[in-house]
Amino acid sequence: MTILVTGGAGFIGGNFVLDWLAQSEEPVVNLDKLTYAGNLDTLRSLRDDPRHRFVRGDIGDRTLVSQLLDTHRPRAVIHFAAESHVDRSIHGPAAFVDTNIVGTFSLLEAARAHWQTLGEGERAAFRFLHVSTDEVFGTLSADDAPFTEDDACAPNSPYSASKAASDHLVRAWFHTYGLPVLTTHCSNNYGPYHFPEKLIPLVILNALAGKPLPVYGDGLQVRDWLYVTDHCAAIRRVLDAGRPGDTYNIGGWNEKPNIDVVRTLCRMLDTLRPRADGSSYASQIQHVSDRPGHDRRYAIDARKLERELGWKPAETFDTGIRKTVEWYLANPDWVNNVTSGAYRDWADLHYGSQ
Ligand code: NAD
Repeated sequence: MTILVTGGAGFIGGNFVLDWLAQSEEPVVNLDKLTYAGNLDTLRSLRDDPRHRFVRGDIGDRTLVSQLLDTHRPRAVIHFAAESHVDRSIHGPAAFVDTNIVGTFSLLEAARAHWQTLGEGERAAFRFLHVSTDEVFGTLSADDAPFTEDDACAPNSPYSASKAASDHLVRAWFHTYGLPVLTTHCSNNYGPYHFPEKLIPLVILNALAGKPLPVYGDGLQVRDWLYVTDHCAAIRRVLDAGRPGDTYNIGGWNEKPNIDVVRTLCRMLDTLRPRADGSSYASQIQHVSDRPGHDRRYAIDARKLERELGWKPAETFDTGIRKTVEWYLANPDWVNNVTSGAYRDWADLHYGSQ
């Protein structure tokens, strides 16, 4: 058997593919367009691994996706591919509509056509797992209860609106056509191989480079953090035992104001890689104008997943953040390749530029 992963050269998809092949012999077909956020360097250890087949392409390319489904006959599609950065969505929302909405629609249609050709047993076992975000639920105030699966969508950014739209399409393909879909809503991830435009890697790398550590507004926006391999384990669990048509929240009960996350990273770096003059990296913190429409608080209630499927995160925020900082300190080559664009030159050479 085989699974088809989309967006498996990105941060979470890349971790998922590595994690999957570390625990299973089941091959992975990995379809990724290699946008600026896709990085084959993350998958370097799989270059000669016959269980990993990388295909550079767009989820919206119906011919290519249908060919992959016909050829490899995967038992599941795990759909990570997306435009994922809120700031980029504010400045250029079109790509978010193209990939997150139209691309997901096209992928659903290809999956549905494939699923309809399967025999009865294979049809029942097939899964389309859509990886979504807690941001579709909008924002909470300080005393609101965390988001549950029953909360309505109330997205506030072009990114979250495009993800909410894709969630609705996925839901409709279950209710209208019977495609066995699963949707997960996860809180903010952190960990190895995270593109340095996102808060945690940005702070680590800017701190080491002596650059300002930008914090939006007062820095009191609260995010709920989950170590990326805990997210991967939750997805595997939902794939194995989730009820088709259901949605599952994934979160680590780790609510933190952004400014606390930044200060924690500074303290950790002060110990692990002290500055030459002995002062704290915290002196590099700079408050900048807040992001328009910035959600104040996200918090995830993951009790359904814990209760029904027995999932629990393995990492606390303290253990996960330490592993993350240590990983960035130990992997300057990965960081240099990402920041210099060297991985993109390599990908263009091997897979053609797009
Ligand atoms: P990412 O930006 O790091 O990776 C996205 C990947 O998708 C990249 O490899 C990119 O090349 C690929 N891609 C983009 N457009 C494509 C297209 N049209 N066709 C094929 N591939 C394409 O994103 P991420 O942080 O790894 O997020 C993965 C998924 O998880 C997304 O769907 C995101 O909404 C969701 N999610 C992310 C978080 C988080 O904290 N990062 C939290 C919850 C959910």
